[in-house]
Amino acid sequence: PGSRTKARVTAIPGDGIGPEVMRATRQVLDAAGARLEWEEALAGAEAFRRGIASGAPRETLDSIERNGVALKGPLETPVGYGETSANVALRKTFEMYGNIRPVRELPGIRTPFSGRGIDFVVVRENVEDLYAGIEYMQTPGVALGLKLITEPGCERIVGLAAALAAAEGRRKVTVATKANIMKLTEGMLKRVGERVLMEHPALQHEHMIVDNCAHQMVIRPEQFDVVVMTNMNGDILSDLAAGLVGGLGVAPSANLGDRVAMFEAVHGSAPQIAGKGLANPTALLLSSLMMLRHIGDFATARRVEHALYVTLEEGRELTGDIAREGPGASTGAFVDRVIANLG
Ligand code: NAD
Repeated sequence: PGSRTKARVTAIPGDGIGPEVMRATRQVLDAAGARLEWEEALAGAEAFRRGIASGAPRETLDSIERNGVALKGPLETPVGYGETSANVALRKTFEMYGNIRPVRELPGIRTPFSGRGIDFVVVRENVEDLYAGIEYMQTPGVALGLKLITEPGCERIVGLAAALAAAEGRRKVTVATKANIMKLTEGMLKRVGERVLMEHPALQHEHMIVDNCAHQMVIRPEQFDVVVMTNMNGDILSDLAAGLVGGLGVAPSANLGDRVAMFEAVHGSAPQIAGKGLANPTALLLSSLMMLRHIGDFATARRVEHALYVTLEEGRELTGDIAREGPGASTGAFVDRVIANLG
Protein backbone atom coordinates (compact mmCIF):
# COMPACT_ATOMS: atom_id res chain seq x y z
CA PRO A 1 0.00 0.00 0.00
CA GLY A 2 2.84 2.42 0.80
CA SER A 3 4.46 1.76 -2.56
CA ARG A 4 2.96 4.86 -4.17
CA THR A 5 4.65 7.23 -1.74
CA LYS A 6 8.13 8.32 -2.70
CA ALA A 7 11.08 7.19 -0.60
CA ARG A 8 13.47 10.01 0.24
CA VAL A 9 17.10 9.25 -0.46
CA THR A 10 20.19 11.35 0.29
CA ALA A 11 22.33 11.55 -2.87
CA ILE A 12 25.99 12.46 -2.39
CA PRO A 13 27.60 12.90 -5.84
CA GLY A 14 31.12 12.99 -4.38
CA ASP A 15 34.41 13.62 -6.14
CA GLY A 16 36.16 12.79 -9.43
CA ILE A 17 33.90 10.55 -11.51
CA GLY A 18 31.30 10.62 -8.71
CA PRO A 19 29.04 13.31 -10.23
CA GLU A 20 29.12 11.54 -13.62
CA VAL A 21 28.18 8.09 -12.33
CA MET A 22 25.59 9.63 -9.97
CA ARG A 23 23.93 11.53 -12.83
CA ALA A 24 23.94 8.35 -14.94
CA THR A 25 22.42 6.26 -12.16
CA ARG A 26 19.70 8.79 -11.39
CA GLN A 27 18.83 9.06 -15.09
CA VAL A 28 18.30 5.31 -15.30
CA LEU A 29 16.30 5.07 -12.05
CA ASP A 30 14.15 8.06 -13.01
CA ALA A 31 13.53 6.59 -16.49
CA ALA A 32 12.48 3.33 -14.82
CA GLY A 33 9.95 5.24 -12.75
CA ALA A 34 11.55 4.49 -9.36
CA ARG A 35 9.46 6.27 -6.71
CA LEU A 36 12.36 8.17 -5.19
CA GLU A 37 12.77 11.71 -4.01
CA TRP A 38 16.42 12.75 -4.14
CA GLU A 39 17.91 15.04 -1.54
CA GLU A 40 21.32 16.11 -2.84
CA ALA A 41 24.04 16.59 -0.23
CA LEU A 42 27.68 17.61 -0.14
CA ALA A 43 30.64 15.59 1.18
CA GLY A 44 34.27 15.07 0.26
CA ALA A 45 36.83 17.40 -1.31
CA GLU A 46 34.59 20.47 -1.57
CA ALA A 47 33.55 20.11 2.08
CA PHE A 48 37.21 19.98 3.17
CA ARG A 49 37.92 23.08 1.08
CA ARG A 50 35.08 24.85 2.91
CA GLY A 51 36.85 24.06 6.16
CA ILE A 52 34.68 21.17 7.40
CA ALA A 53 37.22 18.97 9.16
CA SER A 54 35.25 15.71 8.84
CA GLY A 55 34.53 16.21 5.12
CA ALA A 56 30.79 15.80 5.79
CA PRO A 57 28.79 18.95 6.73
CA ARG A 58 26.09 18.93 9.40
CA GLU A 59 23.29 19.28 6.77
CA THR A 60 24.57 16.13 5.04
CA LEU A 61 24.60 14.15 8.29
CA ASP A 62 21.10 15.46 9.14
CA SER A 63 19.81 14.45 5.72
CA ILE A 64 21.16 10.90 6.08
CA GLU A 65 19.82 10.68 9.64
CA ARG A 66 16.32 11.80 8.48
CA ASN A 67 16.13 9.60 5.40
CA GLY A 68 17.98 6.54 6.70
CA VAL A 69 19.08 5.74 3.15
CA ALA A 70 21.87 7.27 1.08
CA LEU A 71 23.43 6.72 -2.33
CA LYS A 72 27.00 7.96 -2.41
CA GLY A 73 29.71 8.63 -4.99
CA PRO A 74 33.40 8.23 -4.09
CA LEU A 75 34.98 10.77 -1.74
CA GLU A 76 38.59 11.80 -1.66
CA THR A 77 40.67 13.57 0.94
CA PRO A 78 42.49 16.36 -0.90
CA VAL A 79 46.15 16.58 0.02
CA GLY A 80 46.67 19.30 2.62
CA TYR A 81 43.09 19.28 3.94
CA GLY A 82 41.40 17.29 6.66
CA GLU A 83 42.90 14.76 8.98
CA THR A 84 40.63 11.82 8.33
CA SER A 85 38.72 10.35 5.42
CA ALA A 86 35.15 11.58 4.90
CA ASN A 87 34.19 7.97 4.14
CA VAL A 88 35.46 6.76 7.49
CA ALA A 89 33.71 9.74 9.17
CA LEU A 90 30.34 8.77 7.61
CA ARG A 91 30.73 5.08 8.48
CA LYS A 92 31.63 5.91 12.07
CA THR A 93 29.00 8.64 12.60
CA PHE A 94 26.23 6.21 11.69
CA GLU A 95 28.03 3.13 13.01
CA MET A 96 27.66 1.41 9.65
CA TYR A 97 29.52 -1.66 10.80
CA GLY A 98 28.80 -3.96 7.88
CA ASN A 99 30.07 -3.58 4.34
CA ILE A 100 28.37 -5.97 1.94
CA ARG A 101 30.16 -6.55 -1.35
CA PRO A 102 28.50 -9.01 -3.72
CA VAL A 103 30.77 -10.68 -6.27
CA ARG A 104 28.80 -12.15 -9.13
CA GLU A 105 29.56 -13.01 -12.74
CA LEU A 106 27.74 -10.58 -15.02
CA PRO A 107 26.35 -11.41 -18.44
CA GLY A 108 28.49 -10.24 -21.35
CA ILE A 109 31.55 -9.43 -19.25
CA ARG A 110 34.29 -11.83 -20.22
CA THR A 111 37.12 -12.45 -17.80
CA PRO A 112 39.61 -15.32 -17.36
CA PHE A 113 37.08 -16.66 -14.81
CA SER A 114 33.93 -16.50 -16.97
CA GLY A 115 31.59 -19.46 -16.89
CA ARG A 116 32.63 -20.78 -13.49
CA GLY A 117 29.56 -19.58 -11.66
CA ILE A 118 31.22 -17.10 -9.30
CA ASP A 119 28.54 -15.86 -6.92
CA PHE A 120 29.54 -14.92 -3.40
CA VAL A 121 29.32 -12.05 -0.96
CA VAL A 122 32.16 -10.47 0.99
CA VAL A 123 30.99 -9.20 4.38
CA ARG A 124 33.63 -6.77 5.60
CA GLU A 125 33.69 -5.33 9.12
CA ASN A 126 33.61 -1.59 8.52
CA VAL A 127 34.44 0.40 11.67
CA GLU A 128 37.09 -1.46 13.70
CA ASP A 129 40.53 -2.91 13.03
CA LEU A 130 43.38 -0.73 11.76
CA TYR A 131 40.79 1.73 10.39
CA ALA A 132 39.83 2.90 13.87
CA GLY A 133 42.46 5.58 13.18
CA ILE A 134 44.50 5.09 16.34
CA GLU A 135 48.03 5.74 15.15
CA TYR A 136 50.82 7.94 16.38
CA MET A 137 54.55 8.51 16.28
CA GLN A 138 56.15 6.51 19.09
CA THR A 139 59.49 8.28 18.55
CA PRO A 140 60.68 10.19 15.51
CA GLY A 141 60.99 7.57 12.79
CA VAL A 142 58.80 4.99 14.57
CA ALA A 143 55.06 4.97 13.81
CA LEU A 144 52.59 2.84 15.73
CA GLY A 145 49.03 1.89 14.71
CA LEU A 146 46.57 -0.04 16.85
CA LYS A 147 44.44 -2.91 15.64
CA LEU A 148 41.19 -2.64 17.56
CA ILE A 149 38.88 -5.66 17.54
CA THR A 150 35.96 -6.05 19.96
CA GLU A 151 33.83 -9.04 20.83
CA PRO A 152 30.52 -7.18 20.21
CA GLY A 153 31.98 -5.95 16.91
CA CYS A 154 32.74 -9.55 15.88
CA GLU A 155 29.33 -10.77 17.07
CA ARG A 156 27.40 -8.25 15.00
CA ILE A 157 29.44 -8.74 11.80
CA VAL A 158 29.17 -12.54 11.97
CA GLY A 159 25.48 -12.14 12.85
CA LEU A 160 25.04 -9.96 9.77
CA ALA A 161 26.82 -12.54 7.59
CA ALA A 162 24.54 -15.30 8.91
CA ALA A 163 21.40 -13.19 8.42
CA LEU A 164 22.45 -12.32 4.88
CA ALA A 165 23.17 -15.97 4.10
CA ALA A 166 19.72 -16.96 5.37
CA ALA A 167 17.95 -14.13 3.52
CA GLU A 168 19.61 -14.98 0.22
CA GLY A 169 19.24 -18.76 0.58
CA ARG A 170 23.00 -19.25 0.80
CA ARG A 171 24.47 -22.33 2.49
CA LYS A 172 27.97 -21.62 3.72
CA VAL A 173 29.78 -18.93 5.69
CA THR A 174 33.58 -18.78 5.55
CA VAL A 175 35.30 -16.85 8.33
CA ALA A 176 38.69 -15.78 6.94
CA THR A 177 41.25 -14.50 9.48
CA LYS A 178 44.93 -14.27 10.30
CA ALA A 179 44.26 -15.92 13.68
CA ASN A 180 47.38 -18.07 13.38
CA ILE A 181 49.56 -14.97 13.84
CA MET A 182 47.30 -12.38 15.54
CA LYS A 183 45.80 -14.74 18.07
CA LEU A 184 43.95 -12.13 20.12
CA THR A 185 42.65 -9.70 17.48
CA GLU A 186 42.09 -11.86 14.39
CA GLY A 187 41.61 -14.80 16.77
CA MET A 188 38.62 -12.97 18.25
CA LEU A 189 36.77 -13.09 14.92
CA LYS A 190 37.64 -16.77 14.51
CA ARG A 191 36.40 -17.73 17.99
CA VAL A 192 33.27 -15.56 17.90
CA GLY A 193 32.59 -16.80 14.37
CA GLU A 194 32.64 -20.43 15.51
CA ARG A 195 30.35 -19.66 18.45
CA VAL A 196 27.82 -17.51 16.57
CA LEU A 197 27.63 -19.82 13.57
CA MET A 198 26.96 -22.84 15.82
CA GLU A 199 23.62 -21.13 16.50
CA HIS A 200 22.79 -21.40 12.78
CA PRO A 201 22.71 -25.15 12.17
CA ALA A 202 21.21 -24.71 8.71
CA LEU A 203 24.43 -23.02 7.57
CA GLN A 204 27.72 -24.77 6.97
CA HIS A 205 30.64 -22.88 8.34
CA GLU A 206 34.39 -23.04 8.03
CA HIS A 207 37.46 -21.09 9.02
CA MET A 208 40.13 -20.28 6.45
CA ILE A 209 43.44 -18.48 6.97
CA VAL A 210 43.14 -15.24 5.05
CA ASP A 211 46.23 -15.62 2.88
CA ASN A 212 45.02 -19.00 1.71
CA CYS A 213 41.60 -17.38 1.19
CA ALA A 214 43.23 -14.95 -1.28
CA HIS A 215 44.80 -17.92 -3.04
CA GLN A 216 41.55 -19.92 -3.06
CA MET A 217 39.63 -16.92 -4.46
CA VAL A 218 41.86 -17.02 -7.52
CA ILE A 219 42.25 -20.82 -7.84
CA ARG A 220 38.67 -21.90 -7.11
CA PRO A 221 36.43 -18.84 -6.54
CA GLU A 222 33.22 -20.80 -7.11
CA GLN A 223 33.66 -22.53 -3.71
CA PHE A 224 32.70 -19.35 -1.80
CA ASP A 225 29.22 -18.31 -0.70
CA VAL A 226 29.56 -15.75 2.13
CA VAL A 227 33.02 -14.70 3.35
CA VAL A 228 33.34 -12.61 6.50
CA MET A 229 36.52 -10.71 7.39
CA THR A 230 37.96 -7.94 9.54
CA ASN A 231 38.16 -4.48 8.00
CA MET A 232 41.50 -4.41 6.21
CA ASN A 233 41.47 -8.03 5.04
CA GLY A 234 37.94 -7.45 3.73
CA ASP A 235 39.00 -4.25 1.98
CA ILE A 236 41.83 -5.93 0.12
CA LEU A 237 40.14 -9.23 -0.68
CA SER A 238 36.95 -7.56 -1.89
CA ASP A 239 38.93 -5.56 -4.45
CA LEU A 240 40.62 -8.80 -5.50
CA ALA A 241 37.19 -10.43 -5.75
CA ALA A 242 35.89 -7.51 -7.87
CA GLY A 243 38.74 -8.18 -10.27
CA LEU A 244 37.49 -11.74 -10.82
CA VAL A 245 34.19 -10.57 -12.30
CA GLY A 246 35.05 -7.49 -14.36
CA GLY A 247 36.79 -5.02 -12.08
CA LEU A 248 35.99 -1.95 -10.06
CA GLY A 249 33.74 -0.48 -12.75
CA VAL A 250 31.12 -3.15 -11.97
CA ALA A 251 31.54 -3.74 -8.20
CA PRO A 252 28.69 -2.53 -5.91
CA SER A 253 28.45 -2.32 -2.12
CA ALA A 254 26.22 -1.48 0.81
CA ASN A 255 27.25 -0.04 4.18
CA LEU A 256 24.79 -1.18 6.83
CA GLY A 257 24.17 0.06 10.35
CA ASP A 258 21.21 -0.32 12.68
CA ARG A 259 19.55 2.95 11.59
CA VAL A 260 21.16 3.88 8.28
CA ALA A 261 22.12 2.19 5.03
CA MET A 262 24.47 3.80 2.53
CA PHE A 263 25.03 2.37 -0.93
CA GLU A 264 28.14 3.07 -2.99
CA ALA A 265 30.44 1.64 -5.64
CA VAL A 266 33.57 -0.12 -4.36
CA HIS A 267 35.74 2.11 -6.58
CA GLY A 268 37.25 5.51 -5.77
CA SER A 269 37.12 8.84 -7.57
CA ALA A 270 39.32 7.70 -10.50
CA PRO A 271 40.84 11.17 -10.99
CA GLN A 272 42.65 10.12 -14.19
CA ILE A 273 39.38 9.69 -16.07
CA ALA A 274 37.18 12.22 -14.22
CA GLY A 275 35.22 14.74 -16.28
CA LYS A 276 35.89 12.92 -19.55
CA GLY A 277 32.70 10.89 -19.88
CA LEU A 278 34.67 7.62 -19.68
CA ALA A 279 33.50 6.28 -16.32
CA ASN A 280 31.50 3.09 -16.09
CA PRO A 281 28.34 3.80 -14.06
CA THR A 282 27.54 0.08 -13.62
CA ALA A 283 29.04 -0.17 -10.12
CA LEU A 284 26.90 2.67 -8.73
CA LEU A 285 23.87 1.49 -10.70
CA LEU A 286 24.20 -2.01 -9.19
CA SER A 287 24.61 -0.36 -5.76
CA SER A 288 21.38 1.56 -6.39
CA LEU A 289 19.62 -1.75 -7.10
CA MET A 290 20.76 -3.01 -3.69
CA MET A 291 19.24 0.22 -2.35
CA LEU A 292 15.92 -0.31 -4.15
CA ARG A 293 15.69 -3.83 -2.70
CA HIS A 294 16.59 -2.47 0.73
CA ILE A 295 13.59 -0.11 0.58
CA GLY A 296 11.36 -2.85 -0.79
CA ASP A 297 11.05 -1.78 -4.45
CA PHE A 298 11.84 -5.21 -5.87
CA ALA A 299 9.90 -4.65 -9.10
CA THR A 300 11.90 -1.59 -10.23
CA ALA A 301 15.15 -3.26 -9.16
CA ARG A 302 14.36 -6.32 -11.29
CA ARG A 303 13.38 -4.18 -14.28
CA VAL A 304 16.55 -2.05 -14.20
CA GLU A 305 18.71 -5.11 -13.58
CA HIS A 306 17.22 -6.78 -16.64
CA ALA A 307 17.86 -3.70 -18.81
CA LEU A 308 21.44 -3.51 -17.54
CA TYR A 309 22.07 -7.22 -18.19
CA VAL A 310 20.66 -6.94 -21.72
CA THR A 311 22.93 -3.94 -22.36
CA LEU A 312 26.01 -5.80 -21.08
CA GLU A 313 25.10 -8.90 -23.08
CA GLU A 314 24.57 -6.87 -26.31
CA GLY A 315 27.98 -5.31 -25.74
CA ARG A 316 27.35 -2.46 -28.18
CA GLU A 317 27.88 0.61 -26.02
CA LEU A 318 30.15 -0.50 -23.18
CA THR A 319 32.60 1.86 -21.47
CA GLY A 320 36.34 1.40 -22.04
CA ASP A 321 37.00 -0.67 -18.90
CA ILE A 322 34.70 -3.49 -20.10
CA ALA A 323 34.48 -2.87 -23.88
CA ARG A 324 35.13 -5.99 -25.97
CA GLU A 325 37.05 -4.04 -28.61
CA GLY A 326 38.02 -0.48 -29.43
CA PRO A 327 38.20 2.44 -27.02
CA GLY A 328 34.69 1.99 -25.66
CA ALA A 329 31.59 4.17 -25.47
CA SER A 330 30.90 7.21 -23.32
CA THR A 331 29.07 7.08 -20.00
CA GLY A 332 26.14 8.84 -21.71
CA ALA A 333 25.93 6.40 -24.63
CA PHE A 334 25.93 3.45 -22.22
CA VAL A 335 23.16 5.04 -20.15
CA ASP A 336 21.10 5.66 -23.30
CA ARG A 337 21.34 1.94 -24.16
CA VAL A 338 20.28 0.90 -20.65
CA ILE A 339 17.31 3.27 -20.79
CA ALA A 340 16.36 2.03 -24.28
CA ASN A 341 16.47 -1.53 -22.92
CA LEU A 342 14.03 -0.69 -20.13
CA GLY A 343 11.43 -1.32 -22.86
P1 NAD B 1 40.03 4.18 -7.94
O1 NAD B 1 39.02 3.14 -7.65
O2 NAD B 1 39.57 5.58 -8.03
O3 NAD B 1 40.74 3.79 -9.34
C1 NAD B 1 41.42 2.55 -9.53
C2 NAD B 1 41.44 2.21 -11.03
O4 NAD B 1 40.14 1.79 -11.46
C3 NAD B 1 41.79 3.39 -11.93
O5 NAD B 1 42.50 2.88 -13.02
C4 NAD B 1 40.44 3.90 -12.37
O6 NAD B 1 40.49 4.61 -13.60
C5 NAD B 1 39.64 2.63 -12.49
N1 NAD B 1 38.21 2.85 -12.22
C6 NAD B 1 37.63 3.02 -11.01
N2 NAD B 1 36.32 3.20 -11.14
C7 NAD B 1 36.03 3.16 -12.45
C8 NAD B 1 34.82 3.28 -13.20
N3 NAD B 1 33.63 3.50 -12.62
N4 NAD B 1 34.90 3.19 -14.55
C9 NAD B 1 36.07 2.97 -15.16
N5 NAD B 1 37.24 2.82 -14.50
C10 NAD B 1 37.23 2.92 -13.16
O7 NAD B 1 41.19 4.03 -6.87
P2 NAD B 1 42.39 5.02 -6.46
O8 NAD B 1 42.96 5.65 -7.70
O9 NAD B 1 43.25 4.22 -5.58
O10 NAD B 1 41.71 6.16 -5.58
C11 NAD B 1 41.39 7.48 -6.04
C12 NAD B 1 40.76 8.28 -4.90
O11 NAD B 1 39.53 7.70 -4.50
C13 NAD B 1 41.63 8.37 -3.62
O12 NAD B 1 41.53 9.69 -3.12
C14 NAD B 1 40.96 7.41 -2.66
O13 NAD B 1 41.14 7.76 -1.32
C15 NAD B 1 39.50 7.54 -3.07
N6 NAD B 1 38.67 6.36 -2.75
C16 NAD B 1 37.42 6.57 -2.30
C17 NAD B 1 36.58 5.49 -2.07
C18 NAD B 1 35.19 5.74 -1.57
O14 NAD B 1 34.72 6.87 -1.60
N7 NAD B 1 34.47 4.75 -1.13
C19 NAD B 1 37.03 4.18 -2.31
C20 NAD B 1 38.32 4.00 -2.81
C21 NAD B 1 39.14 5.08 -3.03
